[in-house]
Amino acid sequence: MTAYDTDNIFAKILRGEIPSTRVYEDDDTLAFMDIMPRSDGHLLVIPKTPCRNLLDATPEQLAAVIATVQKMSHAVMVAFDADGVTVQQFNEAAGGQEVFHLHFHVLPRHEGVSVRAPGTMGDFDLIAQHAEKIKASLA
Ligand code: AMP
Repeated sequence: MTAYDTDNIFAKILRGEIPSTRVYEDDDTLAFMDIMPRSDGHLLVIPKTPCRNLLDATPEQLAAVIATVQKMSHAVMVAFDADGVTVQQFNEAAGGQEVFHLHFHVLPRHEGVSVRAPGTMGDFDLIAQHAEKIKASLA
């Protein structure tokens, strides 16, 4: 397996070298908004320690991340009055992964509403408003 690249985008976000819209963090994990949201409130959860994906993550990293995924899933259900939550996670390029730091997508969902196509940049102000709703639902 390819080695972890310390210059991947999420490593830079963790180091504060590029901006992100953070909604939650604890000692081991960070949750922040996806810049190309496929549903309103689409966020990402990552471990603060390095690993490429599910295939090289330790049980401790996975346990910490999935606990935050569950916490954020509850938060988006409340924040968006959602009917459900989609959690996605991709491994290596062939598995659909584009950023090589383990991450889980959390997408609030509503009955009958499809996710949007990937690859479209979101509106920054709207993403910021959605982040505030999520943070309020955690409070
Ligand atoms: P994937 O590796 O296929 O799970 O996709 C990476 C995800 O990261 C995509 O949903 C992108 O929209 C998202 N993404 C890429 N760069 C950033 C960034 N700087 N801040 C937030 N999300 C990002």
